[in-house]
Amino acid sequence: MFRCDKCHKITEPHEKPIFVVMQTRPKTYINVIKKSRGEHQEEVRKESTGREIVEEQKWCDTCILLRATEQRQAINMVKDAVGGSLSE
Ligand SMILES: [Zn+2]
Repeated sequence: MFRCDKCHKITEPHEKPIFVVMQTRPKTYINVIKKSRGEHQEEVRKESTGREIVEEQKWCDTCILLRATEQRQAINMVKDAVGGSLSE
């Protein structure tokens, strides 16, 4: 049970939130790898880049389904527009 960040409805007991990533930013990670050779311990630092989450929201099943439907409609609208321009 939780409050949906999209529709602000309190969900049913046992309903699990679906986390929706709203914003990410680039991030440089430093991985430290420790290698030991006998008495010597070597530390290797390796940089890698990725993205980290800045903001995420908890959405209920209804909002997720609604968004999926909206996305499908948007894709179909684009397909129709492209199809229309191709046939001209
Ligand atoms: Zn909702």
